[in-house]
Amino acid sequence: MNTPMPIEYLRPDLLRIIVPSPTIPPATTTNAWVTDAKDGLVVDPAAHTTETKNTLLKTLAPFQPQAIFLTHHHRDHIGAATFLREQLQVPIFAHAETASLIDFTVDKQIDDGTTFSMRNDTWTAIHTPGHAPGHLCLLSSQDNSFIAGDMVAGEGTILIHPNEGSIREYIDSLEKIRTLNPSRLLPAHGQSLNQPEQTLQEYITHRKQRVLQIWDCLTDQPKTAFSIAKSIYTELPSKYIPMAAIQVTCGLLYLQEDGVVKEQSHGWIRIANDYSMTT
Ligand SMILES: [Zn+2]
Repeated sequence: MNTPMPIEYLRPDLLRIIVPSPTIPPATTTNAWVTDAKDGLVVDPAAHTTETKNTLLKTLAPFQPQAIFLTHHHRDHIGAATFLREQLQVPIFAHAETASLIDFTVDKQIDDGTTFSMRNDTWTAIHTPGHAPGHLCLLSSQDNSFIAGDMVAGEGTILIHPNEGSIREYIDSLEKIRTLNPSRLLPAHGQSLNQPEQTLQEYITHRKQRVLQIWDCLTDQPKTAFSIAKSIYTELPSKYIPMAAIQVTCGLLYLQEDGVVKEQSHGWIRIANDYSMTT
């Protein structure tokens, strides 16, 4: 009981604590990245039970962070934020859009380009909407390590929800990350991704292919997102089809923005003969 959580050092001043969290299977943990032992940021402290919060606090005992930094508002990223604020007497940093979506106060609102100085490094906040409206990543000036939150995943998949983002925004944010030349992507779930160019390209290509697959499913006969999900996600266990249908809805909205599909009372139809993706 209460033994410290596993810690992995990527540099002497950059580490991840692997925290059990209420996340989406197959992932079961969220990484709390710590950007310096003395004056670093603790990114996404996700512990959500009294026991895991106390264990996280114990694991953080050797460190003196300057703040808690939230990449976004999802519940598998924020669980221990207020507990640590109280225990460690440090402020909570997050984007204004994140602040508007959580039920506790944020002490400082962070914008794209805000920098954070530590003893050996400066980290810059990068606004990356698509998965969540206030999603922020962090770029290291020392070696271009990139704390990626839920933009990519070392395990599991990234979900887009039409109420919180869009595939277009998500792809734009992945392109933005690519222009920053990250040396490695440090996701919220799973291990460091050490071939960032390849990973980002795969993510972008995969999302575009899914949109094109949805387009290929459509005819002048209405189809629902659910039925399209069943025909596209053939290897997915049926319990995950409702989640997949939400991804299909995001793809349909992408096509709608491009003016080639339309929603009718019984589902979606094509309103163009051809479609070639522009972005
Ligand atoms: Zn998320």
